[in-house]
Amino acid sequence: MNCFNHTSISATGICKHCNKGICHQCATDTGDGLACTETCVETVQALNKLIDRNRKTVSAQHKNAYLSPIFLGGMGAIFLIYGLSGVQNAPLPIAMGIGFLIFALLYAAKVKSWLG
Ligand SMILES: [Zn+2]
Ligand SMILES: [Zn+2]
Repeated sequence: MNCFNHTSISATGICKHCNKGICHQCATDTGDGLACTETCVETVQALNKLIDRNRKTVSAQHKNAYLSPIFLGGMGAIFLIYGLSGVQNAPLPIAMGIGFLIFALLYAAKVKSWLG
């Protein structure tokens, strides 16, 4: 493939936006991919920013997704410790604790499958 602007020069890269072949002279390095014209540089940079922002938002959501199972697991542990401490010989806190822990594990497995 030759440069879109200089048909006699072979292309050294491809514009990330319009996928035209471009030579070293025409290519502008956006930091994450090459672009040909000024318009393409702006578009690629805007696109990169958007992808970057999405990636950050998604990873923040991933972190929050584990808060619920962690909370449930904590609740389960508190019930279990309370039930097993012998302060009150009641099977209910132990059953609640086990229930919460199972639910927390199922929830965590679900979150893990969401996140891939
Ligand atoms: Zn372009
Ligand atoms: Zn060129």
